Amino acid sequence: MNKNAKLPETEDGTVLFNVDPIIVKQHYEIDYLHSYAQDSPFFAGLAKKKLLGSRCAACDYTYATPRGHCMECGGATDWVEIPLHGRVHTYTTCYFGGEAFLKETPFTLVLVEFDGVDTLFLSRLVGVEPEEAAIGMQVKARFLRNAKFRPTDVYFVPE
Ligand SMILES: [Zn+2]
Repeated sequence: MNKNAKLPETEDGTVLFNVDPIIVKQHYEIDYLHSYAQDSPFFAGLAKKKLLGSRCAACDYTYATPRGHCMECGGATDWVEIPLHGRVHTYTTCYFGGEAFLKETPFTLVLVEFDGVDTLFLSRLVGVEPEEAAIGMQVKARFLRNAKFRPTDVYFVPE
């Protein structure tokens, strides 16, 4: 028996942000394994500099994004390559954003419309000052050279 037993002390401290209630800073890190499942071809397409949408086999309704079944009729969809050129349907400039994008503010998000596609595609508009963005502006897709297999692998620039 050792009545003088002690747990080892460390030199690292705790950052205290608030006293009542106590709020401390604690590092947290995790490797997250995420499956794209049936959406995988969309992300593989981005790596090949292609935009893959979905077209309903029953009614031809065409989505700019991955979709297994049609919202209009419930039919199954097939992958379809959609144009890399489109128009700004609407836009917004973000002066605040999630942590991953905070350093890039302000940035402009656009909903892009394409010929022959019934829905819009949300993406970033790059190379345009916030006051230069305009509805109807002709834009084209540009892809990261090194795909990260994320939706941000594609962005749009003015034509
Ligand atoms: Zn349909």
